[in-house]
Amino acid sequence: MTAQVDLHLHSTASDGRLEPAALVRHAFDCGVRMMALTDHDTTAGLDAAAATAATLDMSFVPGIELSAEWRGRTVHVLGLAIDPTAEGLARGIRQLATERERRAAEIARRLDAAGAPGTESLRRIREQTDLPTRTHFARALSELGSVRSMAEAFERYLGRGRPAAVRSAWPAMTEAIEWILAAGGVAVLAHPLRYTLSPGARRELAREFRDLGGAGAEVVCGGAGPAQVEQAASLVLRTGLAGSVGSDFHDPAIPWNQPGRLAKLPVAVQPVWAGAAFPQALAELA
Ligand code: AMP
Ligand code: MN
Ligand code: MN
Ligand code: MN
Repeated sequence: MTAQVDLHLHSTASDGRLEPAALVRHAFDCGVRMMALTDHDTTAGLDAAAATAATLDMSFVPGIELSAEWRGRTVHVLGLAIDPTAEGLARGIRQLATERERRAAEIARRLDAAGAPGTESLRRIREQTDLPTRTHFARALSELGSVRSMAEAFERYLGRGRPAAVRSAWPAMTEAIEWILAAGGVAVLAHPLRYTLSPGARRELAREFRDLGGAGAEVVCGGAGPAQVEQAASLVLRTGLAGSVGSDFHDPAIPWNQPGRLAKLPVAVQPVWAGAAFPQALAELA
């Protein structure tokens, strides 16, 4: 089924495969009529994406996916309908870039120590981006023939508990939410089921997110089946959060994770895009 709203997509400004303009065209061709570009820790792709969306019959929502920390774990906070020029957010983004740079150097060192081509990977990554993510490392390791797939790169080296898993000093979740709110945006907890948490801790995360000013959490994520949608819906309904839908699209070569390939938001859940910060003419889209 093709949904018309997709509020979580990545471009080459972070770890996506398509340039912002090409991403918007691809999303449009996939049937998406309201989209948010939400690159990791950067707003660099927003102008180009917005310019392309303006030439199509498509509503564009400027967004970002911030890396943050909650109780010692990494969580991702989406900022939707943000003003990318807001000073507080820009300062936060600079802080995140510094941390990504430090972390990338450490990942490269640890890969080398584990017998994988870390330094060579980082050299290649620097030719493509100044905002390295683990996705870039996984691709580089795979291109260098050190692993057979990106999944293997995470399983062997980059994932939790593996030799090149570097503890990141991301800002606290409360700070990430503050930056988004100060930029006039709406904060949405990304893929709430992906964090390794007990059901009780997950509810505490959602409640704390709401108490800190968060508006919603993703209920329909790329590749999620009906049971996961139901579980996430129950989480937001219990917490009093609105729900969002987003594919977390990165790569046109992955057929099961394409823009807009999403289940509908369950009717009981309030769509986060019905809020005043979003393009109202399209608020009825589902
Ligand atoms: P980072 O923010 O640098 O820690 O990188 C996180 C990104 O890595 C996520 O946004 C995903 O795009 C990607 N990622 C994480 N785990 C995996 C995995 N097991 N397989 C493929 N990509 C992954
Ligand atoms: Mn990513
Ligand atoms: Mn994420
Ligand atoms: Mn994402």
